[in-house]
Amino acid sequence: MIEVTMSTRQLVFYSCLGLALRRVSSFSLPLVRLNSVAIFIFAIFITTLSSALAATWLMTLYAGLASELRLEIFVSFWIGDLGGVLMFIATTSLFLDFYEKENKYDDIFEKGLVKPLALLLVISCATTLLFIVTGLESDVSRFGYLILLPVAWAASFYGIRFALFAALCVNITAVTHYILLGLTAYPAIELQTLFSVNLAMAMLLGASLEERRLAMFDAAHDPLTQMLNRRAFFQEGRALLERCKRQNRNMAVLMIDLDHFKRVNDVWGHEAGDLVLMKVAECCRKICRHTDIQGRIGGEEFVLLLDDADPQQAYAVAERLRLAVEEVLIPGSSEYISTSIGMSHLLEAEDDLEELLRQADLALYQAKTAGRNRCRSTALSPMPVEIALT
Ligand code: GH3
Ligand code: MG
Ligand code: MG
Repeated sequence: MIEVTMSTRQLVFYSCLGLALRRVSSFSLPLVRLNSVAIFIFAIFITTLSSALAATWLMTLYAGLASELRLEIFVSFWIGDLGGVLMFIATTSLFLDFYEKENKYDDIFEKGLVKPLALLLVISCATTLLFIVTGLESDVSRFGYLILLPVAWAASFYGIRFALFAALCVNITAVTHYILLGLTAYPAIELQTLFSVNLAMAMLLGASLEERRLAMFDAAHDPLTQMLNRRAFFQEGRALLERCKRQNRNMAVLMIDLDHFKRVNDVWGHEAGDLVLMKVAECCRKICRHTDIQGRIGGEEFVLLLDDADPQQAYAVAERLRLAVEEVLIPGSSEYISTSIGMSHLLEAEDDLEELLRQADLALYQAKTAGRNRCRSTALSPMPVEIALT
């Protein structure tokens, strides 16, 4: 009877916690908002505490738990559940995230695979070493908290997913040693506390990095199209230009202006216009390489800086983009949009970004006056699509 009641208690408390958290914040990763993570951890803290209180009360009531044992039982229930629930949440959210999200580990891998893997190795070795040491000398068990350091490192550099991964790695390594080495010197309750602190810290530090990343992204990108805003475009554009000059690489500037876009807004509304801008931005993303730079520098004017593209290659990219934009349907209508593209190329070492943009703007003006829906380059004469794309 008491076993059934105790299991029901866990079911009731943690189901309520799950339901409540679903209302407060998204259960899946990345839990990017520091606020949601803090609420999350606080809610788990309070629920496990209440659940442990209920358990102790039930045991006192039905099993005659002695008063001198109550505190010990309460703490063991509480910390055990706290570690368990955090561990469960970390594992399931990583697991769900792995199946649900595309490009899930880009944020880790963009910094290279070797460093995170090396860090995981360091984390596992540090945990192993510490647990062997703590196993030999019972009074150094408090140094077990040193294994939090590499997890804090992982969270601060690689974000919440890697932090949880690292924390789980530490916990699993620790528990393996605890079992294999029979580390009685390290009480289970200390290990569970360490697990809880480890996971909560990984979530909080990881989320604060994600939040910083998000703020940096927002500061540099246009919210409608997710392209670089004017300020960030000039900053990154100048850096790319300098790199291309130093390494003697080609660079092309594509100035893109949608044709008769005012009419789109006037006839089908501003919302339809916004949707068109988003679709055009998507076309730009599809034809660009990850080293290219894409910016929205005016209302419906986009600029692409093509890294390592000579005039012919840039012309072909521009034509591909023009053809892709021709396929963009204006929402709520049966009409399509079109775009004119002006191109300039890094030919003179003294050209700066402003000068290249001015030249591309002139070429764009030629494309507009020649009838729109066409490409013009400062270095090449106009050519038919079939030739440009060969
Ligand atoms: P042209 O072919 O000569 O380029 O003609 P156009 O009508 O496209 O002229 P222009 O490039 O000057 O048009 C700019 C228009 O873009 C004016 C404005 O209504 C619209 N626009 C600018 N920013 C936004 C935006 O964020 N959303 C929407 N929906 N429209 C915008
Ligand atoms: Mg314009
Ligand atoms: Mg226009």
